[in-house]
Parts: sequence; structure tokens; C-alpha cells
Amino acid sequence: MALIVQKYGGTSVGSIERIKNVACRIAKFQSSGHQIVVAVSAMSGETNRLLTLAKEIQGIPDPRELDVLVSTGEQVTIALLSMVLIEMGYKTKSYTGTQVRILTDAAHNKARILQIDESRIRADLDAGYIVVVAGFQGADEFGNITTLGRGGSDTTGVALAAALKAKECQIYTDVDGVYTTDPRVVPEARRLKTITFEEMMELASLGSKILQIRSVEFAGKYKVKLRVLSSFAEEGEGTLITFEEDKNMEHAIISGIAFNRDEAKITVLGVPDRPGIAYQILGPVADANIDVDMIIQNIGNDGMTNFSFTVNRNEFERTMDMLKSQVQPDIGARDVVGGDKIAKVSIVGVGMRSYVGIASKMFRSLAEEGINIQMISTSEIKISVIVDEKYMELAVRILHKAFDLDQAP
Ligand code: ADP
Ligand code: ASP
Ligand code: MG
Repeated sequence: MALIVQKYGGTSVGSIERIKNVACRIAKFQSSGHQIVVAVSAMSGETNRLLTLAKEIQGIPDPRELDVLVSTGEQVTIALLSMVLIEMGYKTKSYTGTQVRILTDAAHNKARILQIDESRIRADLDAGYIVVVAGFQGADEFGNITTLGRGGSDTTGVALAAALKAKECQIYTDVDGVYTTDPRVVPEARRLKTITFEEMMELASLGSKILQIRSVEFAGKYKVKLRVLSSFAEEGEGTLITFEEDKNMEHAIISGIAFNRDEAKITVLGVPDRPGIAYQILGPVADANIDVDMIIQNIGNDGMTNFSFTVNRNEFERTMDMLKSQVQPDIGARDVVGGDKIAKVSIVGVGMRSYVGIASKMFRSLAEEGINIQMISTSEIKISVIVDEKYMELAVRILHKAFDLDQAP
């Protein structure tokens, strides 16, 4: 008998029919002798619907009240799923994050889980119950409801698995595993049987929506065995996130491609080329708690240079305002320009460590299609480029083909 945590995403619980399907899968696992804890998302579309309601009242909704509102989506699902299981004759109890005592920090809308009190869940499991927990939510030390950021139910699932020392955390979604890229963009994308934890971290942080980045961080920190599977397929092994590179397996150099439209680019023009300039530009940005991603400073001529960087799209206006009003006059820059019609496309693979020429192949493939690269950043196992947003999907398709990701390695 093993303890298994299963997480079901929004599409998987999007209707009563689907909730019934999910219940059958849970029942099957329990009947075969396992202890089951389930984390669920809100029914598909529900979180967006609630966010839209909030925005009809407040342009920037009050963060605390927004959490009270959006956390209700998951509460609906836990009750419905539990009712179905009870109807099927199973002993079941549902809990909100607050009821479990999922303690988070106080950062509303993007809270981090600090601790989970697993005693109540354990007692229920020992008494033969299936335990159903609302994903995406917790409470801070004062009992204020918090939520964990979009896609946060993945993190609830993995955090529960870590706290309960589960044998495996199974993430059930609408695709049957982690693919070489989003199969909605590249139909030829292939499912990966395994992916290393490091690669999954990169893919998730570079925009691949399949797992929330924090869930992967948790899995790494607490060595949770994590598997992504389809809730629609009868069976299948999905994708296992592994901690060690499987030395026996032929590994492709590139494992996957991620993309996102979440960033905006800002360029400070005509900056005096002298020590301390990067700090004078980015210091105030950091002080305003704005994350900076890619940075480029060109080699100056005539003592002048241009300085570009990217920020999250929803911080674009705020950053531009601050630079124009404070930083530009301070450092005597000529102008501050920017735009949010950009996209980031990244190739990821641990194989990059042992091969040269990957970057040049990437750049050549994009050049052959006339796609201009605006910025580049690299790490040991990834290369990211910023391109015009309208070329994003084309760039992903070209790179997928160029690196033979549609062929089995
Ligand atoms: P859930 O509601 O179950 O949490 P999500 O919509 O958050 O599901 O994540 C699943 C989706 O992630 C898929 O439908 C797919 O379009 C997208 N996706 C993005 N990148 C990948 C990838 N590399 N492999 C598989 N799916 C991906
Ligand atoms: N319901 C939340 C969202 O849509 C959390 C989740 O589904 O993981 O982002
Ligand atoms: Mg998700």
C-alpha cells in the first residue's frame, strides 16, 4: 500500500461528467489498496471568470479581497468531487487550504507555502478516507486567505506530497505528459518519457505552462517523485521528472522549447558610458520590486551607449514612468523607449553542456526565415531569444524542426 497524491487541473474537472471520470480513477487507485490525497483546481474558466468580475469593480483589485474571491473556485470543485465519491460509496472528506492549515506567507495573489499541517489528513487516511484538498490556496499566520499564483494547484499537489512523504505525486492534465513543446503550437511535438528536474525547472521558468515553476522547485527541494499524466487517457506512463540524467538513454541535445509573451522591452538611449550606469538605471527598478530578466548594454561610441532590458509586461507602464520621470533626468539619457510586442523563445537541454554550435544553429535557423533577434541570453542548459511577438509561433516551429525534436532520439 502506498500513499499517492493526485492533482487534477481545471479541464479535467471542467464539468460534472469529467468530475465523475476523475472520481472513477481515484476510486480505482483506492480500491487497489492505495491511500489517496487529491488536490484539485477550479473548473476550467472559473478562475478567469472570477478575475473578470473583480476587474469590473476595481481596475487593480484589492489583493486580499481578490484572494477571498478567486479561492472560491477550488472550493466548488472539492465539494462536487467529494459528493460524487460519496455517491459511489467511498468515505471522502474535502478541505479548503485554511482547513488543512496550509500556512503561506502574506504575499496575496502570489503567496508561498511555508508549512503544511498534515496531521488531520493522515488521521483521515488511516481511517480509510479519500482526502480532497482545494488547490491554489492557503492562509497566512493571521488566517487571511491567500492564493499561490496562476497554476498554483500544481504546487499544492507537490507540497502535499512532500509533507506526507507520498510515494508519488501525479499531475493529471489535458495532455498525456510533458512534450518537446506545447502541442497546441506544434502538432508534431513528442511526449518525453522522462525529463530531468533541471530541464523542467528551465522550461517552467521560461514560460511552459504545463507545471507551475514553484511546484518543480518543491519537487526538487523535497525529492518528490513527480509525474505528469493525462486525465483523459485510460492508461499511460506520462512523463517522469527525474533527478539524475539517465546515462543509458540516448538523450537529444535539446529536450524542449518554451515560449512566452509575458515580457516587455525597455531601452534607455544615449546613456553616458561610465562606471555605475547599470546600477543607476536598475537600482531604482529593483527598489520598486520590479524583476528584470534580460539585459543588454551595447559598446559605447563617443562616450555614449544604449541600455536595454526586459520586465514583466504588467510592470511595463510603471517601469517606463519611473525611468522617464526619475532616472532619465538623473543620468542625462537622451530618451527612454520601449514596447511590449515581443516574445521570448527558449531552447532547453542538458545536452548543450557537451556540444558546441547549438547557439549558432539556433541563430542561423531563425535568420534563414528572416526572423530578427532583438536580445539573447544564455545559461549552461538554455538559450533564449527575444523576437517580435508576431514571429513567436513560427520561431518555435522552425526550431522544433531544426533540432529534430519531431524525431525520436
Ligand atoms: P491544468 O489546467 O491541468 O493545470 P494547464 O493548462 O495549466 O493544465 O497545462 C496544460 C497545458 O500546458 C497543455 O494543454 C498545453 O497546451 C500546455 N503546454 C505548454 N507547454 C507544454 C509542454 N512542453 N508539454 C505539454 N503541454 C504543454
Ligand atoms: N485555478 C487556478 C488557476 O486557474 C489554479 C490552478 O488551476 O492551478 O490559475
Ligand atoms: Mg496548470
